[in-house]
Amino acid sequence: MDTKLLIGGRWVDAATGGTIPAIDPSTGETFATIARGMAEDVDAAVAAARDALEGDWGRLSAMERGRLMQRLATLILRDTDTLAEIESRDVGKPLTQARADVVACARYFEFYGGAADKVHGDTIPYQNGYTVMTLREPHGVTGHIVPWNYPLQIVGRSVGGALAMGNACVVKPGEDASLSTLYLAKLAVEAGFPAGSINIVTGYGEEAGAALSAHPGIDHISFTGSQEVGVLVQQAAARNIVPVTLELGGKSPQVVFADADLEQAVTFVVRGAIQNAGQTCSAGSRALVERSIYDRFTAMVAERFAALTVGPALDDRDLGPLINEKQRDRVAGMIRTAKDNGFRVLAEGRIADGAPTGGYYVAPVLFGDVPQDSPLAQQEVFGPALAATPFDGEEEAVRLANGTPFGLVAGVWTRDGGRQLRMAKRIRAGQVFINNYGAGGGVELPFGGMKKSGFNREKGFEALYGFSVVKTVAIKHD
Ligand code: NAD
Repeated sequence: MDTKLLIGGRWVDAATGGTIPAIDPSTGETFATIARGMAEDVDAAVAAARDALEGDWGRLSAMERGRLMQRLATLILRDTDTLAEIESRDVGKPLTQARADVVACARYFEFYGGAADKVHGDTIPYQNGYTVMTLREPHGVTGHIVPWNYPLQIVGRSVGGALAMGNACVVKPGEDASLSTLYLAKLAVEAGFPAGSINIVTGYGEEAGAALSAHPGIDHISFTGSQEVGVLVQQAAARNIVPVTLELGGKSPQVVFADADLEQAVTFVVRGAIQNAGQTCSAGSRALVERSIYDRFTAMVAERFAALTVGPALDDRDLGPLINEKQRDRVAGMIRTAKDNGFRVLAEGRIADGAPTGGYYVAPVLFGDVPQDSPLAQQEVFGPALAATPFDGEEEAVRLANGTPFGLVAGVWTRDGGRQLRMAKRIRAGQVFINNYGAGGGVELPFGGMKKSGFNREKGFEALYGFSVVKTVAIKHD
């Protein structure tokens, strides 16, 4: 497969000729290389996107853009096996989870393709002698900086909305996992997307990413990643007065009340914590459990945790490895420190016999009685560690749920209808899921953060509003 940059419809080496190794986290071995794009390559990609806007891409109707996107969705599904294997190897994601990501990616293009010609402006009643309307126009060239944890899903989520509204995109994938994005771009070329409508510049964050976020030719930037880098991206964009969407991290709670369906809750609490080995922005990394059922519920979770196995991604176990050595050492360090500090380990999964010694494996851990002010309850671990904490009553549940700097997602488990609504309104998070967690990832549902989890929304029609700008046209007549 092509591992070059896609700029203006051509596959090209980085201007410097530099490359970056693609490492398989299941083995620690290099299995491909990608181009190391830099500022010069970003310049070329932004120029190509601008040309596309003024050329073939800009001339397409909304319906024609939608058709291209639908065609791309079909090609993604056609190549599900190939894409899933690439994603699984590159990210270290168990194969079943990688397949689900491929299907979700296709669904973004299907949904946004169908929505492309359904977003419109208004006519506004105004003074006699005027007709006033609003037009929804693309921003122009949009930059998309993407992390490594869900490459296909996040590229689909971010680029899908932008393309539907007629923007031309420059994508900078995560340097640890760019291969599926390059394959997706190959499919976009096959689908017939005009040259320059989608450009891919792989490379390091401080090089290609920083150049993209500071580029004066960008009209909008969508960043998904860490809080630290989100701040840098927003600062860089501010210098050019460019709007940003920030999708950052979380420390999301799952709040389990005594009247909940505990069997259901335990399944979603475990899955929410360990999916993608906990390397998920919306990971439910805190289980807040009403005290009267705390021992029973944590015992149920512990039983599941103890049965979890970690192994090579293509072996498709419960968890794969973490993305790289640095993340493995950081997460393993946080877990070790918590243990050294006397935190109660309620259960621990295990690394499968025969897992390659060079892989970046961490066994999942369930910690009990975690105090609200501890790092385990406050900081994003981005690994397979779940912190359980008891609470007494609704007031304390709300206080604990809201008691971190983040506000991305929350799960609430209760059969009490009034409490469901009260909790939904009082929890400060972009998404509150009642008696489920994630709502199956539906692309129709707006997604984004409050507080330090970011702002603006992707997914759903909200994304289409965000990837477009309103122009008011007032016509004076007799
Ligand atoms: P990261 O911030 O290190 O990297 C994200 C992207 O930014 C990568 O492409 C990286 O190359 C680039 N980057 C790095 N330095 C840059 C710079 N100086 N200028 C511009 N770009 C730069 O994050 P990560 O480790 O790849 O991803 C993990 C983080 O992403 C976690 O905090 C996670 O919660 C968050 N995340 C959020 C969402 C969401 O939708 N809210 C989804 C997935 C991940």
